[in-house]
Amino acid sequence: MTPSTDAAGNLFLTLAGRDRAAPPLLIGSHLDSQPTGGKFDGAAGVMAALEAVVSLAEQGDAPARDVVVVAWMNEEGSRFAPGMMGSEAFTGERDMAAIRAARDADGVSVGEALDRMHQAFPDLPRGPLGFAVGSYLELHIEQGPLLEAAACTIGVVTGIQGKKTFQVVVEGAEGHAGTLAQQERRDALAAFARMAAALHGEIGTIDADIKFAIGRVAVVPNAPSVVPSRVSFSIDLRHPDNAVLDAAGARITALCRECAPPCTVMVNSLVDAPSNAFDPRLRTSISEASRQQGHATMAILSAVGHDARHLAKICPAAMIFIPCRDGVSHVEHEWAEPSHVAAGASVLAQVLRDLAFAASTCGDDMSSISGL
Ligand SMILES: [Zn+2]
Repeated sequence: MTPSTDAAGNLFLTLAGRDRAAPPLLIGSHLDSQPTGGKFDGAAGVMAALEAVVSLAEQGDAPARDVVVVAWMNEEGSRFAPGMMGSEAFTGERDMAAIRAARDADGVSVGEALDRMHQAFPDLPRGPLGFAVGSYLELHIEQGPLLEAAACTIGVVTGIQGKKTFQVVVEGAEGHAGTLAQQERRDALAAFARMAAALHGEIGTIDADIKFAIGRVAVVPNAPSVVPSRVSFSIDLRHPDNAVLDAAGARITALCRECAPPCTVMVNSLVDAPSNAFDPRLRTSISEASRQQGHATMAILSAVGHDARHLAKICPAAMIFIPCRDGVSHVEHEWAEPSHVAAGASVLAQVLRDLAFAASTCGDDMSSISGL
């Protein structure tokens, strides 16, 4: 396999196929972690991808098109925030100049760190940032408890849950808590209390899939005998259905405005990431391969983001989840059973093999799937 990198520091390992011009099959995950993360989040997907490609190469015949293993740069965002830099740069969602400007806690910029990395590997060829992709596959530990609870080895990921976050600021007026007449007060904390009750009552009860939280509240001046003049708070809203998510997001602004008087309120949208659905044909292939190999499967929605979310915007993409013990991740004792890792890699290998050789007998079929 031929190694290469790009301007974002993504690492690619290419197994040449018969048609070098056809958009390659891309398969992988990330190798970075959290400061106290375990050894499976990300790395299991890259190692499984490598194993799947080794197994493909051992069949003897060259695949119809290139097969590329990828390790995306900075998925976690633990040193340089926010994460997903490699896949967002690759898919054109984030500008390289903005990515290079981000700094770590010591003041080192992504640009400086990338330049240093490229200098450390002077012989590593540098390809273009972003290229047409035939299909993308990613294996990952679930990072949740559902597969383990259902005794399923393979999770066929349906999509990634959408998320909106807001920063809300309520403005009232400061006053003496002992002298200012009650009816003349513009108490920002009282307005916040009405908003929190209304939001939890309406948004928090939309349906069983809604996830709503007010996670942080700051009160000004936060003194025992002063009527609060200002409250700012954060909202984290998630739902798998974009129509529900959008409607709930719109209601948040309306409810805050209804509850504000005699105070005023400003609702600022910070994150607006819609839910995505992974490619139905690839999901069927994963289910079919799992069934043939005798693994129990279930459809599962990813509650957290992965690089595959971004790849799904440029090509057919899908994810395979495997269980992790107690659903625990981002801790040093994170654990996936070897038999589960092997099962996931084996399913990944079969789906990859079907894609790699189906294209050789179906001519242009793969390029029509890719939509590129
Ligand atoms: Zn991960």
